[in-house]
Amino acid sequence: MSPFGLSTTVWSDLERETLDLFRRLLRVDTTNPPGNETVAARLLADYFAAAGIDTEIAGELPGRQNLIARLRGRRDGPTLLLLGHLDVVPAEPAEWTLPPFSAELRDGYVWGRGALDMKCQVAAQAVAFSRLARSGADFAGELVYAATADEENGRFCGARWLNAQRPELVRCDYLLNEGGGYYVTIDGRRLYTFTNGEKGCAQFTIHTRGKGGHGSVPLHRLNAVELMGRVIGALADHDLPAAVDAQTAAYIDRLVGDGDLAGRLKDPWRARSALAELHAAGSETAYLVEPLLGITFSPTIARAGGQAVNVIPSHAEVTVDCRILPGQTEADVRREIDAALAGLGDAWRFEMVDYIEGNRSSPASPLGDSLRRTLCDMVPEADLLPTVLCGFTDSRWFREAQPDLTAYGFCPFFAEDAVAMGDREHAADERIAASDLPAQALFVERVVRDLLR
Ligand SMILES: [Zn+2]
Repeated sequence: MSPFGLSTTVWSDLERETLDLFRRLLRVDTTNPPGNETVAARLLADYFAAAGIDTEIAGELPGRQNLIARLRGRRDGPTLLLLGHLDVVPAEPAEWTLPPFSAELRDGYVWGRGALDMKCQVAAQAVAFSRLARSGADFAGELVYAATADEENGRFCGARWLNAQRPELVRCDYLLNEGGGYYVTIDGRRLYTFTNGEKGCAQFTIHTRGKGGHGSVPLHRLNAVELMGRVIGALADHDLPAAVDAQTAAYIDRLVGDGDLAGRLKDPWRARSALAELHAAGSETAYLVEPLLGITFSPTIARAGGQAVNVIPSHAEVTVDCRILPGQTEADVRREIDAALAGLGDAWRFEMVDYIEGNRSSPASPLGDSLRRTLCDMVPEADLLPTVLCGFTDSRWFREAQPDLTAYGFCPFFAEDAVAMGDREHAADERIAASDLPAQALFVERVVRDLLR
C-alpha cells in the first residue's frame, strides 16, 4: 500500500502527473519584474485542454495574463476558488547549487525558484481540478481555478485586476490560496497553521530638518543626522501597545508550553516584556508571536548627507516598514509615532509612503472544517490552527472586493517540518520534497470533495 490509502498504481500515476506539470511550470522563468506569466498560463491551458477542460486567459497586459477555469458540479452548492500566483521573486544563479530554473530532481527534492512560493500549490491545485473533471465532477456547486500574475511585485495586473475588471470570472464563496502549510512538532503532535487574515502595511518616512554647516562646528542637537538617530532610537524604545484577541490567545496557548509565560504573553500589559524574555531565551516562537501583537516598526532605509564628510546636512530621513493588524488604521499608527517622538519637538515631519489595510475572514467556517478533517485524515497526529499572516497575499484583494467570501491560505507540507525547511522561500536553493507534490494534489482533491459534498 502506498501513502494515504492509495494503491501503488494510483499513487505513482498521481506522482508522475503532478511532478511533470510542476517541473514544466518551474522551468518557465516568471521572475517579477518583469513577470512573463502568460507563458505559464498557456502551459496550464494546454494541460487543461488535454483533459477537455475549457479555460479563459484574461489580463491587462499581453505578457502578464491570468488563467481561469470553471467546473460546474452536478448539484447546487457554493463556489470554491483555488487560487495561486504564477510569478516568482528574482534568483541570483551564482548563489544556487543548481540553476534556479532547471527544475532538477535530485536527492528527493525538486529544485527551483518558485518550488515553495508557490508553483507547488499551483500545480497541485491544477492536478486536483483536472482529476475532479476527469472523474465526472461529482460534487455540489462550482469549482474555479485561477493562476494569476503579479503577486510578488506590483500587484496590479493579477488578482486585483481580475476582481476589479472581470469580477464574474472570480466570484466565489470560498477561496483557498497560499499562506500556510508548514508544521512544527510539539509533544508528538504536528501543529499546522492556516492563515485567515493578512496584516496591512503603513510604510512611512520620518524627515528630520536641522541646520547645515561645517563639520568642524558640530551644531549639537541641530544636526539632521543626529536627529534621525534620535528618531530611530525613540521608535525602537517606544512601548507599542499589544492586542491579544481570542485567536492569538489560542495560538499562544498551543505554541508556548510554559503556562506562566503563555499567561503573560496573553496579557496585553505584560505581553511585550514576556516577548522580550522569550526572544532572549533564543526561542524561535518569539518570531511567530511578535507580529500578532499589533503594530510593528522596522527602520529599513536611512538617507542623509553623502556630499562630503565635512558638511553637516540640513535634512535626513528614515523609512520604516510598519505593519498593522486587520482593523488597525493610519490613525493608530500616527498616534504611536506622535507618542514615540513627543520628546523631539517639531524637528521631524511624517510622510506616509505606502498604506494598505489588512483584512481577515472568520477563522471558523465550513472551509476550515474541511481543511481540518482532510488534514487529520491524512496526518492523524496533526492539529490545525488559524493565524494572521505578517506578510501579504492576494487573499487581501479578494476579501476587499467580495466581503462575504471566506479566504484562507493553506497547502500542507508533509515530508519535512518548518525547522528543516528553514528559510527556503525567496532564498537560494529553494526546493521541495518531491513526494509533497502528489500529496498536496491529493489533499486539495479531498478538500474539494469534503467541502462541496
Ligand atoms: Zn507567494
